[in-house]
Amino acid sequence: MSPHNVEFKGYALTDPSKWNDLKVTSFQPKTFQPEDVEIAITHCGVCGSDVHTLTQGWGDTKLPLVVGHEIVGKVTRVGDKVTEFKPGDRVGVGAAVGSCLQCRACKEDYESYCPKSISTYNEQYPDGIVTQGGFSSAIRAHERYVFPIPDEIESRHAASMMCAGLTVFSPLKTHGAGPGKKVGVMGIGGLGHYAVLWAKAMGAEVYAFTHDKSKVDDIKEMGADHVVDTGIKDFHKDLARTLDILISTRDVFQEDTPLNDYLSMLFVHGRFITVGLPDSNNSLPTLHAFDFLPCLMGGSKIGSKKECLEMLELARAKGVKPWIEEMPMRDVGKALKALKENEVRYRYVLTQDIM
Ligand SMILES: [Zn+2]
Ligand SMILES: [Zn+2]
Repeated sequence: MSPHNVEFKGYALTDPSKWNDLKVTSFQPKTFQPEDVEIAITHCGVCGSDVHTLTQGWGDTKLPLVVGHEIVGKVTRVGDKVTEFKPGDRVGVGAAVGSCLQCRACKEDYESYCPKSISTYNEQYPDGIVTQGGFSSAIRAHERYVFPIPDEIESRHAASMMCAGLTVFSPLKTHGAGPGKKVGVMGIGGLGHYAVLWAKAMGAEVYAFTHDKSKVDDIKEMGADHVVDTGIKDFHKDLARTLDILISTRDVFQEDTPLNDYLSMLFVHGRFITVGLPDSNNSLPTLHAFDFLPCLMGGSKIGSKKECLEMLELARAKGVKPWIEEMPMRDVGKALKALKENEVRYRYVLTQDIM
């Protein structure tokens, strides 16, 4: 036990052949620095990144490893140089916990693109300590990577905003989602459902693309103006040159995924932005130059603290609430398996149960 009454224990992967069989394990946190905030975790959302990491889809991981990067909890300790937080504050941490804070990306509020960005789990601090995620009792992070949660937003709602919410808020904001704009969303899971909620809250007209008929009523209730069944042949034809922004949350592509059909729906200078990150061996389908003649293609990774605060303010002002299912943290294996099998509606949030 540390002198500050927080013990660091988490549901850890110890054997990659049993990817969702996680065992409570103690771990060493990062060395506490003057700019650091220590947080007793109360909630953590379950993200597709957790599945890609545990199944070794993005490469071999460190062991033991605790994943989870949609964290909310209470501040238990702050370093001498911390200005923004005090013990007792309710805060969140997302998919990154550090970066150089000196480079152009860090200085221009693009810190998630810092070449020295440190992920919340499965990375190493410069001193060699491995970062461990939020399916755990506590975490330490630099205050730049800690976000204050407004009183009006419940912790269970704020948790999944820290990665899923921010990951789609950032490109929507960057590429001008708002009144008069038409926003398409491919794939209505955890990220996609947030893209629908935020784009509506920003005042855009929303087109949701799904092949899952069982989700149609939900998606309309989330506020989508149009739900397009991608199982119907030529679904894209009536929408040629319509969309200003198309956010893709897909994290699996086949060689015959009709990406060119999706791109054909973009208006001139429309943006196709992927936020889904498939396994390392899963490339995008082959495209021809003709396929993106009028549009721009790009990607987006998490978001900045500035954007996170704007997102939380939008959620507070408009009362945006994610669609979540809560479970105790000991059910993490069950939640991960259901997420991998696309059964979640639309995000699992785990509540603390490590004694
Ligand atoms: Zn995530
Ligand atoms: Zn940097």
